[in-house]
Amino acid sequence: MDKYTEKKRKNQALSKLIGSFVSEASAELIAECNTFMMFASDERMEKMKQHKGNSCKNRFCPICSWRKAKKDALALSVQMKYIEEEHQKDFIFMTLTAPNVSGEDLLEEIRIYNKAFKKMVERKEVKTVVKGYVRKLEVTYNKERDDYHPHFHVLITVNKSYFTQTKQYISRDRWLELWQQATGDPTITQVDVRKVRKNNNKEISEIAKYVGKDSDYLSNEKVFEAFYKSLKGKQLVVYSGLFKESMKLFKNGDLDKYREVDPTEYVYALMYNWGQKEYILKEKRELTEDERKQLNRNLLDEVGLEE
Ligand SMILES: [Zn+2]
Repeated sequence: MDKYTEKKRKNQALSKLIGSFVSEASAELIAECNTFMMFASDERMEKMKQHKGNSCKNRFCPICSWRKAKKDALALSVQMKYIEEEHQKDFIFMTLTAPNVSGEDLLEEIRIYNKAFKKMVERKEVKTVVKGYVRKLEVTYNKERDDYHPHFHVLITVNKSYFTQTKQYISRDRWLELWQQATGDPTITQVDVRKVRKNNNKEISEIAKYVGKDSDYLSNEKVFEAFYKSLKGKQLVVYSGLFKESMKLFKNGDLDKYREVDPTEYVYALMYNWGQKEYILKEKRELTEDERKQLNRNLLDEVGLEE
């Protein structure tokens, strides 16, 4: 429960900051988010899974965005298995950055990033090798310098031959050049590119993680406003090619054979209420027959994130 408590405390911080940006009704939903939760647990109370709760689903809510990230990570890992097995592809992971900007310039900088990325992937040498990508925008805040660092994490799928065919292979230095040209900024010195190793969840977590760290955007009112105004209503994750295709298949249940069954045998129902500073266990009972049927032997629908 520690993680939930930590996230709920941050949700309370959000509740104070978001008041002037949303309607009274939305503000209330956020304040009430997960004040009631039902968990299912195994016999020894070691494995727990949230079964019910009143969630606000707000993009900036630390609880809701954390839970969504775990679901998105599961989807992405399934998509990768499918692309690997049925399309015989490999993956590279890229981080594209540019110099930091002030809060006032953040919105415009994000627009420039989007445009530059589009320009880069339209280049013939890039188009030839990229068989699909997932692109995620992340923004971090630097407290000491009081500036913002938007960057893209991109998971790209390529033919296995990409790494051996010198004609197609794009070196790190060439990626840097391409990114400099696309942004029109020759002062950019960093592009990180690496081949994704098998069973490495780090890259998946980077993509699925929320657009900003809650500890960053909840720093103070001014910082929150910069994050809120630049990211509200924006498409933060973009799927293309094989990743777009496989997302449709995943949603249709067509990739379920790549999903594992949750091995936990759920036995108890645990009811928690939020008590201002922590969650309080209000009731523990055995699951009803119906609940057991509903909860046990299901496909896993989330994975843990690497922080
Ligand atoms: Zn919420």
